[in-house]
Amino acid sequence: MIKDNLDIAKHNIEEACKRAGRDTSEVTLIAVSKTKPVCMLQEAYDAGVREFGENKVQEIMDKYDKLPSDIHWHMIGHLQRNKVKYIIDKVEMIHSVDSLRLAETISSEAVKHGVTMKILIEVNVADEETKYGISLGEAADMVDKIMKLPGIIVKGFMTVAPNSKNSEENRKFFRDLHKIAVDIKNKNIDNKGIDVLSMGMTNDYEIAIEEGSTMVRIGTGIFGARNYSI
Ligand SMILES: *Cc1c(COP(=O)(O)O)cnc(C)c1O
Repeated sequence: MIKDNLDIAKHNIEEACKRAGRDTSEVTLIAVSKTKPVCMLQEAYDAGVREFGENKVQEIMDKYDKLPSDIHWHMIGHLQRNKVKYIIDKVEMIHSVDSLRLAETISSEAVKHGVTMKILIEVNVADEETKYGISLGEAADMVDKIMKLPGIIVKGFMTVAPNSKNSEENRKFFRDLHKIAVDIKNKNIDNKGIDVLSMGMTNDYEIAIEEGSTMVRIGTGIFGARNYSI
């Protein structure tokens, strides 16, 4: 089942890339495995997946030792500053940096552990009260400030678009974030490396790709619906 779902997702990614005149190699598929058991992650791994997304520190810690070490773990959920130390040497990228204070903690922990952490700044594209992330208008300033910190590299932006029935409604949000990312990248030489846009989930990843996404985070579309009651 997981293998079939992966094949479908990859096919959809290819088609979306074609429509947008983009190369498939520009888009990384992250399999969002939160709440799913290790055996399902292993199944995805055996089907070739190496990029996994999780939204809880504890869950990354639990799964980390039980799965192969060549997996790239992506922290995509809200991160408390006191938990940064547990994942600083385990994750490939932190997608959910939503404050300067969190970035400062990541920076000091990275320096302490002798690593460089790649991060994305989370943007609340539709200004939803229930969502984390800074506003579009704050993005450029946040990049400037975080760029200066040691042990941390700003690779780009992440967003969780509204949960709308009609995914076309999210196109404008993806487009807005892409535009701001391009503006910031072109602003000065230090920002040259800003080239990651983590946007698009099961319901809207094809539209996100058409609008410039370079990382899609697919959970349900690969592993099936999540059950939060168990
Ligand atoms: C759960 C989650 C996803 C995956 O959502 P699906 O709709 O299941 O694809 C993507 N990004 C974030 C930040 C998530 O928390």
